[in-house]
Amino acid sequence: MRSDPAEFQLVAPGTLQGVVSLLAAEPGAWLPIAGGTDVMVQYAAGKLPAHRLVSIWNLPELRRVEVLPGEIHIGAGCTYTDLRNHAIVANEFSLLARAASWTGGIANQNRGTIGGNIVNASPAADSLPALLVYDAELILVSVRGERRVPYRDFHTGYKQTRLAADELIQSICLSRQFAGYVSYTRKAGARNAQAISKVCVAALGTIRPADGVIENVRIAAGSVAPVPIRLVETERLVMGRMVEPSVLALAQKTAAAEIKPIDDIRSTARYRATVAGNLVEEFLLTLGSGKPAI
Ligand SMILES: Cc1cc2nc3c(=O)[nH]c(=O)nc-3n(C[C@H](O)[C@H](O)[C@H](O)COP(=O)(O)OP(=O)(O)OC[C@H]3O[C@@H](n4cnc5c(N)ncnc54)[C@H](O)[C@@H]3O)c2cc1C
Repeated sequence: MRSDPAEFQLVAPGTLQGVVSLLAAEPGAWLPIAGGTDVMVQYAAGKLPAHRLVSIWNLPELRRVEVLPGEIHIGAGCTYTDLRNHAIVANEFSLLARAASWTGGIANQNRGTIGGNIVNASPAADSLPALLVYDAELILVSVRGERRVPYRDFHTGYKQTRLAADELIQSICLSRQFAGYVSYTRKAGARNAQAISKVCVAALGTIRPADGVIENVRIAAGSVAPVPIRLVETERLVMGRMVEPSVLALAQKTAAAEIKPIDDIRSTARYRATVAGNLVEEFLLTLGSGKPAI
């Protein structure tokens, strides 16, 4: 059923302190709204979990990228366009910049934020496999202070997160240690733009020059389980081995077996397992070729 606008309240304190104070005063009563690209869909469907909205759109404390010698802190209020336009994100964290480039259309990229993508907690969210392979950490903030949690522990189940009712994501921390890695990412959807993924994969790796074996590998996938996942079995299997036909075949099979896809409106479990295996094979071929990925 459609929502009645008269039943809703929207406030905009304008500062991070103002927002977290409001959340702390009545935990769970206020729903943060950033770009609103997920919230407004829920509103239109009559499925918003709260009738009081507090705007965090364009808060200066959330909409900046802090560049430190060893890591960058991406404000949770940065939009996909902000990420695409940031030189260090584009150069050092290309998996994230690529995911931003195919998240919805241009209007969506001008409005949708990375914090909203994380908290909305869709298994198909495009930025999340990249956050997994980069070992991202989240800084959560409330009136109680800040806490830093590994992103890999943040999503605890389908649409479930560790965020407390009085907390916001303040920033996403990425370690600047992946400069020499081959990056690979691919989204399989019904079409190139404006499609939710059927399967998406983000991966990083290096080959040891002395003997040509895989010395580092990180592979994550979305839309294949209740939460985005690292393909740890596949990673373990290929580590220390050359990229050769027997390894490719085994990796493809292992990747397809370790995911937990479902049949839904966008695809079938069988299709997803096959495509995930194929994308892992394509990543390993790219890694073995020594050429830069897409
Ligand atoms: C037309 C269209 C196309 C889309 N295409 C894609 C796509 O291709 N890929 C994809 O992954 N997604 C897609 N989306 C979904 C959406 O755009 C993204 O998930 C986006 O990142 C949400 O960000 P937002 O700022 O709009 O979040 P909002 O809608 O403002 O908020 C979403 C949720 O996150 C919470 N929240 C937001 N920021 C914070 C924060 N800093 N701390 C705590 N809680 C917070 C809100 O309370 C809410 O629960 C699409 C949406 C639309 C409408």
